Amino acid sequence: MLAGAGAGVAIKLARLMHLNNDYVFDGKEYDVSNLIVTTYVKAKDSVREGEISDRLKEQFRILNRNKPPDIKAGRHCTDPVLCEFYDLCNPGTPAGHVSRRPRIGSKRLERLISAGITSIKRIPADFPLTKRQRRATDSVKSGKPFISPGPEHAWLAGKRYRSC
Ligand code: SF4
Repeated sequence: MLAGAGAGVAIKLARLMHLNNDYVFDGKEYDVSNLIVTTYVKAKDSVREGEISDRLKEQFRILNRNKPPDIKAGRHCTDPVLCEFYDLCNPGTPAGHVSRRPRIGSKRLERLISAGITSIKRIPADFPLTKRQRRATDSVKSGKPFISPGPEHAWLAGKRYRSC
């Protein structure tokens, strides 16, 4: 039996719907049956009611504290995404600082900083970056957003939006 049965509902079967991140739009028609996939949730994969209760208690305990947890700023501020509180926890780190470069590994970050390169705009063209990192870095340097030349771009370009 899955979690939720304690609320008086006998759940015999549960399915999780989510976006298929392997789906690639062909630029013509959306294949919704491929874009959205459903997965059966087996009882062995579900979270026990007691576990949910324990997690909630722990979260409320932390939320009720007078002071926030003493966690120092670090890699978790930008990886996997730039935290919305970055400026609060990282005062003195200017916009365009290499540490704000999302998903840059700690080794690469250390290499840049130890070479005296603190601005994304000063990352040399021959500094080893992944294709995506290079693209984002070039975008910061040029001040121009990157727009994929893929089929979705061509599809969007042909669309008109209704105005109210
Ligand atoms: S910036 Fe975000 S992730 Fe980093 S310490 Fe502050 S709250 Fe935590």
